[in-house]
Amino acid sequence: MTSLPPHILVVDDAVTNRLVLKRMLEAQGHRVSTANDGAAALKLIEAQPFDLVLLDVMMPVMDGFEVLAILRERPDWHKLPVVVISALNDTTSVVRCVSLGATDYLFKPVNQTLLKARVEASLVRKRAQDAEYATLLALEAAQRAKNEYVSLISHELNTPITAIRGYTDLLLKHLRPQLTPPQVQSLEAISALSKLMGELLHDLSDLSRIEAGFLQLEPSIVFLTTVVETARLAVQSLIATKGQHFAVTLEPELPPLWADRVRVVQLLTNLLSNASKYTPPGGKITIGARQLNAATVEVSVSDTGIGIHAEDQPRIFERFFRANNPLARSERGTGLGLHIARLLVEAHGGKITFTSQLGVGTTFTFTLPLEQRDVARPQPGPHAALVRDD
Ligand code: ATP
Ligand code: MG
Repeated sequence: MTSLPPHILVVDDAVTNRLVLKRMLEAQGHRVSTANDGAAALKLIEAQPFDLVLLDVMMPVMDGFEVLAILRERPDWHKLPVVVISALNDTTSVVRCVSLGATDYLFKPVNQTLLKARVEASLVRKRAQDAEYATLLALEAAQRAKNEYVSLISHELNTPITAIRGYTDLLLKHLRPQLTPPQVQSLEAISALSKLMGELLHDLSDLSRIEAGFLQLEPSIVFLTTVVETARLAVQSLIATKGQHFAVTLEPELPPLWADRVRVVQLLTNLLSNASKYTPPGGKITIGARQLNAATVEVSVSDTGIGIHAEDQPRIFERFFRANNPLARSERGTGLGLHIARLLVEAHGGKITFTSQLGVGTTFTFTLPLEQRDVARPQPGPHAALVRDD
């Protein structure tokens, strides 16, 4: 495939200048169009793509400064290279043009060699930028395709796995008296493993949706006490089995959050289940919260658990990362919980950090937005109100 030579727009109110520049550029192998003032130039740029604009600064109808300002404001035009041409030694205009975003400049009368060098340099830069942009678009498309694929596969696998678990539980329920202990153990293992697989598939599909930008937060007024209680219920049996103590120390009279209730519960559940999993029996888990400023609340989940080795700390939010600590490895997990937690906090415009000491404990701290009474918020519709009842 042969590509067309670069298309250059020459903008100058003097007909002789236009003709001279056109001839010089055509001699250098470029395609050239011309315009006699700024307004005509913008019309042409609107109608067809150009690779570069040679722009006279002083023109009667719309001068070069105005054209530059308009080009740099429009997202689809702001990367178009513009070489300005000004009167000899009018450095003030040149400085102004450069600050407005001109790529390069030339003085009149235009020297052919200099013109060639400046135009070529700007075109090379533009080609590099275009190639970088195309790579970025291709990467984004590949990422989207991967996420859609993961979503599809997890969804398809989820149905048979749910069925396997259902039938296993049914067998255990009805046949237990007739089964030998090793048979019961095998069925229990199938049930537990299919549950784990279901959880992993759920996390994977959730993650791919979040990463593909499909996470649509449905914010509403949310009371922290309510979401903390829901998350506590979700991990209650885990905490009870290990005989751990659970405490909530929320600052009194905390204003409500402006957040997605379901996602905040998910975030708290991830942190609480970690706190319980990575804390020995009898340990203590605490949820605290305090108002940082008029717009932000800070929530913390602390435990008196095994802690995270300093070496592992920089990688703790990475996808699929699990610490090497054998105490941590003895717990079931896929290494997605914290990665998802961070994505959820960031989707709310917050930040999540942690401090940890090996053998002493860990505290995760994150921020969430408070409801702003004086800011008009879109009200959830009647359907949302039915689904999300705080
Ligand atoms: P899952 O995806 O099921 O949550 P996971 O718990 O292994 O699996 P993350 O929640 O992402 O994954 O946690 C990553 C790793 O960080 C864990 O494997 C564990 O080693 C370490 N970790 C997380 N929370 C704590 C904690 N409170 N105390 C000590 N280590 C922790
Ligand atoms: Mg976890």
